[in-house]
Amino acid sequence: MRKVSERQPLNAAAFPVPRGQVYVIVERCKGCDFCIEFCPRDVLEQSEGINSRGYHYPVVAEGKGDECADCQFCTLVCPEFAIYTDEPAATAR
Ligand code: SF4
Ligand code: SF4
Repeated sequence: MRKVSERQPLNAAAFPVPRGQVYVIVERCKGCDFCIEFCPRDVLEQSEGINSRGYHYPVVAEGKGDECADCQFCTLVCPEFAIYTDEPAATAR
């Protein structure tokens, strides 16, 4: 029997998963990590770098560049309005 996680809708090809490009306004970030913790696809991680306020801001994790589904949940949970997504230019409709 197939596991639930392996199930695919029969018409999955007709509805491709949206892709998003992540943008971070580094100087607004206060390093709370909400966006990192709540991203359903584990796209984000804390950067090594710090902004002028001394906070580690989020970056797209290595190897996750194509994983953002443009769900915009990171934008919703960010208390500083410091992160947002948009369609990648190459796939924009
Ligand atoms: S838009 Fe969704 S999938 Fe993309 S980084 Fe934000 S929370 Fe993660
Ligand atoms: S949720 Fe906003 S303030 Fe918090 S780490 Fe992410 S970008 Fe920075």
